[in-house]
Amino acid sequence: MANSFQVRDRFAAGAQYIGGQLRPGTSGRTQDVVNPATGEVVLSYALAGTADVDAAVAAARAAFPGWAGATPGERSDALLRFAAVLAERAGEFAYAESLQCGKPIKLSREFDVPGTVDNASFFAGAARHLQGQSAGEYSGDHTSYVRREAIGVVGSIAPWNYPLQMAAWKVLPAIAAGNTIVLKPAEITPLTSLMFAQAATEAGIPDGVVNIVSGLGAVAGEHLVGHPDVVMTSFTGSTPVGKRVAEVATATVKRIHLELGGKAPFLVFDDADLEAAVHGAVAGSLINTGQDCTAATRAYVQRPLYDAFVQGVADLMGTLRIGDPFDESTDIGPLISHAQRDRVAAFVDRARETARVVTGGEAPENDGAYYLPTLIADAAQDSEIVQAEIFGPVLVVLPFDSDDEGIALANDTPYGLASSAWTRDVFRANRATREIQAGCVWVNDHIPIISEMPHGGYKASGFGKDMSAYSFEEYTQVKHVMFDNTAVARKDWHRTIFGDR
Ligand code: NAD
Repeated sequence: MANSFQVRDRFAAGAQYIGGQLRPGTSGRTQDVVNPATGEVVLSYALAGTADVDAAVAAARAAFPGWAGATPGERSDALLRFAAVLAERAGEFAYAESLQCGKPIKLSREFDVPGTVDNASFFAGAARHLQGQSAGEYSGDHTSYVRREAIGVVGSIAPWNYPLQMAAWKVLPAIAAGNTIVLKPAEITPLTSLMFAQAATEAGIPDGVVNIVSGLGAVAGEHLVGHPDVVMTSFTGSTPVGKRVAEVATATVKRIHLELGGKAPFLVFDDADLEAAVHGAVAGSLINTGQDCTAATRAYVQRPLYDAFVQGVADLMGTLRIGDPFDESTDIGPLISHAQRDRVAAFVDRARETARVVTGGEAPENDGAYYLPTLIADAAQDSEIVQAEIFGPVLVVLPFDSDDEGIALANDTPYGLASSAWTRDVFRANRATREIQAGCVWVNDHIPIISEMPHGGYKASGFGKDMSAYSFEEYTQVKHVMFDNTAVARKDWHRTIFGDR
């Protein structure tokens, strides 16, 4: 695909987007954005310092009254224009996302970008359906009703695995509900978050409603989370960092929304369609080179299908084309960085001591951050490779005997973000959907998401929802309004104060 713009020219003014303008960060430190397929530096930019976070929060604060005061119809119109600008710029977004992440271009073009456009369209509609409860005379003497209101300046922090979609998931429900936002993308992948904010401005969304600070987590991130003028923290990232974010946010009494790590089980019962399960496991574990919080990571296969499943997955993994993300035929790109590749390799090397690497388990020899699709068998349920989030192209497969055992194993990690059950038996499927403790259970598929449906975790995968109308529970507050209907000076309840005087 042709390079539709030059990254350095595009961000010559800086990689902070504050009050509708690009500007350089003032931390005194620079950060490289690296193409992980080649190791080439595509942009060096000045990182945000705390003064830049302060400026972004001030811009968001100044924009809040006007944006919160706009009618739902006005906000909806602006979001519809936003969706249209995103759609017009689809090629640029796909290019930049693949460049900074190493994603195969077909994934960026067919998943990340259309998902983002659809999210903008969804929230344009949803902006007009924000409702409180209808009015009623609950006390007899009063009319009560509930107002659903915006909360103020939201501070959001996003990871590097789906930078554009994470920006969309954070920004769109927040601004649809009338809030303004400061988003900190991962420092190694700021490009599409900045372009997303620029597209908002181009669509006519007022300056200051969407601001981006590109900075380090420990500097810009913590300052944003602890900022006294920020009323809510919405964080997507790893569970250890999420714990730190929760500590800092709690100290300043903020609303918190945490989308954390995952270790999704993939549960195959013995009546499953084996071909479907094998294809589902390979696609579900290797999407985005396995750097997906909902990726299938632990396949539990009922004993009668186990050997055929292991063979089928290993064979299919061996057919995938690994290579240049911009080659239309590439199925699997590199990991996000050489550091992440080495981290994944270290997990596999430690597992090798007690488990069996069926296929993969090595890095091809080239300059990119590549690692071969890897299948591991014979690991113990309590081993690191089964319990810890690896965030790479690694699937572990384990057998089970009874349905009870399969469901218990599926639930046996601290995480609870996503899961799937593979069966043609409606009773087994229904039981799995009831008993698996996760924010999503797919039946006979693994990965699809849709704007209308909530995404969020159970257990150590966090709390709160992205996407769907449920996300408004995070980004709005409800106010009880109570009108006296008696018009008398001495209310009946005053007896508790005045007695019979
Ligand atoms: P990470 O936790 O290392 O970083 C996430 C973000 O937090 C980055 O922007 C980082 O700069 C920032 N950060 C780091 N330290 C901080 C601090 N002390 N205070 C404030 N911010 C700080 O995660 P990552 O490596 O970028 O992304 C991978 C992780 O994200 C995985 O664990 C994955 O499961 C998770 N994830 C979860 C979801 C979900 O919806 N639950 C979606 C995508 C990714």
